[in-house]
Amino acid sequence: MQLTDSLGRQINYLRLSVTDRCNMRCFYCMPAEGIVKKQHGALLSYEELLLIAETAVAIGIEKIRITGGEPLVRRGIVGFLAMLAAIPGLRHLALTTNGLLLAEMAADLYKAGVQRLNVSLDSLQPQTFSTITRGGDLQRVLAGLAAAERAGFPPPKINVVIMRGINDAEVIDFAEMTRAHGNPVRFIEYMPVVKEKGWQRYCISGDEILQRITAHYPLEPVDKGPYAGPSRDFRIPGARGSIGIITAVSGHFCSECNRIRVTSTGQAKGCLFSDAKTDLLPWLRTPDRKGLTEVLKSIVSGKPERHDISPDGYTHKNFKMSQIGG
Ligand code: SAM
Ligand code: SF4
Repeated sequence: MQLTDSLGRQINYLRLSVTDRCNMRCFYCMPAEGIVKKQHGALLSYEELLLIAETAVAIGIEKIRITGGEPLVRRGIVGFLAMLAAIPGLRHLALTTNGLLLAEMAADLYKAGVQRLNVSLDSLQPQTFSTITRGGDLQRVLAGLAAAERAGFPPPKINVVIMRGINDAEVIDFAEMTRAHGNPVRFIEYMPVVKEKGWQRYCISGDEILQRITAHYPLEPVDKGPYAGPSRDFRIPGARGSIGIITAVSGHFCSECNRIRVTSTGQAKGCLFSDAKTDLLPWLRTPDRKGLTEVLKSIVSGKPERHDISPDGYTHKNFKMSQIGG
């Protein structure tokens, strides 16, 4: 069954957040002191998250990505992933992680049925990595990447938020990973989430990133997979991994958006940058699959046409990426 929104976009992808807590403090995502802990019971239970996933798949969602906060810090996550992997009709189960716990958990994640890992890694330099993440240990993430491949995963996709003056000197090092290690690498434009003065200083457009790479290597366009959504993908000829760019600020990719989101407290969103959200709790706390089906369909049909961010400014209210799931 195909799920399409009112503009004819095929919506096949759900980003499902399982926690807003994290064992890192990336400066662009979380305040240094972390976030205020939610009251007991505010977080969706695994039964409730499973109900959302099953209902979404029944109406046409084919890919689910588990995100957070850091999904691997939630107790019981491996068992939950195994339940998701068993949903009939779900074609693709993926997980986005900061990689800190991957060395210990990769084998269990693979056995649970996770098909693909994205690892967020903004620097290959220990000091820069520690500055961006406010204390994260690069070696643990690199050990996690190696463990993922030993466990049987294809080389994890590396998500890099590129920021001028912070890590932009490493664009070529990351591009080289696609040749040397076969990891797909996706460069993400820094996105403003809180009204910080001068946020534009970090912004590097996807086009500038591509120009820097093509000064060193030729790039050929790559056919998008069925769930690729708005990323633009290329390859250095002969490299196993692709290079993608996500241009949420400089370019308008909304016409190719294929996703909806649900936060760990049950707020559904048709667009990351829209202030509109729908509280799913009434259909979850007293499970109502029929009602949930209708409300998820309405989120798809009401998906906004586009978000409103450009280097000149933006209109959304402040939020924390860790509370929505990126
Ligand atoms: N903790 C996991 C991780 O870091 O991969 C999953 C959650 S994190 C919120 C999901 C993605 O959002 C990460 O790739 C992260 O780099 C990205 N992200 C967070 N804040 C961002 C921002 N202000 N601009 C661009 N990407 C951001
Ligand atoms: Fe945590 Fe991921 Fe946000 Fe970094 S980007 S603070 S790892 S949730």
